[in-house]
Amino acid sequence: MTRVRFAPSPTGALHIGGVRTALYNYLFAKQQGGDFLLRVEDTDQTRFVPGAEEYIIAALKWCGVLPNEGLGFGDGTHAPYRQSDRMAIYKKYADELIAKGWAYYAFDTPDELTAKRSEKEAKKEMFAYNAVTRTAMRNSLTLPADEVAQLLAENAPHVVRFKIPEGDGDVRFSDLIRGSVSYAFAQLDDKVLLKGDGLPTYHLAHLVDDYLMQITHVIRGEEWLNSAPLHVLIYRAMDWKEPIFAHLPLIMRPDGNGKLSKRDGDRLGIPVFPLHFEHPVTGETATGYDETGFLPEAVINFMALFGWAPGDDREIMSLDDMVAAFSFEKINKAGAKFDYAKAKWINQQYILKMPLDELTTRVLPFLQKNTNSPKLNDLKYTTEVVRLLQERCVLLTEFWTQGTYFFEGVKTYDEATVAKKWKTENSAKFDELIDFVTDIDSFTAANFEARVKSFIASSGLKMGDVMPMLRIALTGRMSGPSVADVAALFGRVETQKRLSAAFKRFNKVVEPEKPIEINDLDK
Ligand code: GLU
Repeated sequence: MTRVRFAPSPTGALHIGGVRTALYNYLFAKQQGGDFLLRVEDTDQTRFVPGAEEYIIAALKWCGVLPNEGLGFGDGTHAPYRQSDRMAIYKKYADELIAKGWAYYAFDTPDELTAKRSEKEAKKEMFAYNAVTRTAMRNSLTLPADEVAQLLAENAPHVVRFKIPEGDGDVRFSDLIRGSVSYAFAQLDDKVLLKGDGLPTYHLAHLVDDYLMQITHVIRGEEWLNSAPLHVLIYRAMDWKEPIFAHLPLIMRPDGNGKLSKRDGDRLGIPVFPLHFEHPVTGETATGYDETGFLPEAVINFMALFGWAPGDDREIMSLDDMVAAFSFEKINKAGAKFDYAKAKWINQQYILKMPLDELTTRVLPFLQKNTNSPKLNDLKYTTEVVRLLQERCVLLTEFWTQGTYFFEGVKTYDEATVAKKWKTENSAKFDELIDFVTDIDSFTAANFEARVKSFIASSGLKMGDVMPMLRIALTGRMSGPSVADVAALFGRVETQKRLSAAFKRFNKVVEPEKPIEINDLDK
């Protein structure tokens, strides 16, 4: 039975790279009819950020990438799923490695280690605690057995390190994305397994948990590839069946230079987190895809395409489509460049194909955040606004930015166009136009449009003089849905009110010295 896990550390908001890791785990588990679990790896309490764990759970829920077992998702058979609740488990495995000769006690004090590092740095070398250097350090491999026993009995500060084999050998394993991978022993160092406080490091804790939780495939980011040989050695030392590894390509900056970080995201205006986050201590905020106006379906769709493609030309895919099409062979080894334009395009495709009622439900919170216009209580009205804007919006936030005038009076007009197009000598004709176009039995878009056309025909005004002025008068701007649709949605009274207020203002724009009456725009 396939069992995979997503095992983030609660050190802040979950980066989209993490979301993609969770997604690929999910896709693979579903495809195999297996389990996908969430485990929180909080062994490093110095990096713990309050709220981060809740954030991880909320982000997975928002994206619809739902573990069927694990923290926040039901207890499964291997609870607890938070490492700080499992601390009693790990030590005995470190002891077992020591007993088997695969690990040892190291008594070097922080000062001694710093001295070694400085010594090496002075020679422009890096210090690594490894098969070569450990012979000159204070550990259970170099000290006499009775001294070691004495130090342990006194509870002298110490850590437990893994003993990388000496010599020219190497460790080989296979990775579903990278094929056969090998690391020379000489490239590896003796990582700490148990810290001075007796608590495990990530290397020990995650591995023991993967073993106990019967994880069959370890699917994680490329940043862990260099740790994998150590993990493979530990599996072999313990005589445990090692899982199958898949190290996913990094998500790179749009120019391909380096990993996409929060700082790059801020600089380039690209969100790198699924949800908004505020750091409880520093107060630093992270922009989320949610508040930027992305649909979660679109977010997982474009994230799936970071480094993977279904092998045909499909780009818009539901979670179920992706489950069916997912395969490790189609994942690139090279880092995936972030393409924000593509992400937005995908979001737009979801907006375009979403049923109107559903879309309105998704748009409403964005409108509610910006206005308390009573119009929001009129679902029919709001749905019509969403219909008129559906083809024009790429992000959900744009239903507000492009449709503000549907809920509030126009505060600023496109004055550059008014200054160019409005002729005060036509002012009287425009006043007539207001009466003429609102004097219709049934105030529909079709009737309004017919009426405008017939007025233009009889008034001697030109289409190009009238239509932009009507549009700006009603909406303040030069682009948007059809003027007739907008007028019909406003209704006769509102249309009348907006046109007359605007035309007065237009005279003022063109001839500023003429006083105008205070209008009722903001009512
Ligand atoms: N806790 C590790 C992280 O934060 C998990 C690495 C792994 O999946 O083994 O990414």
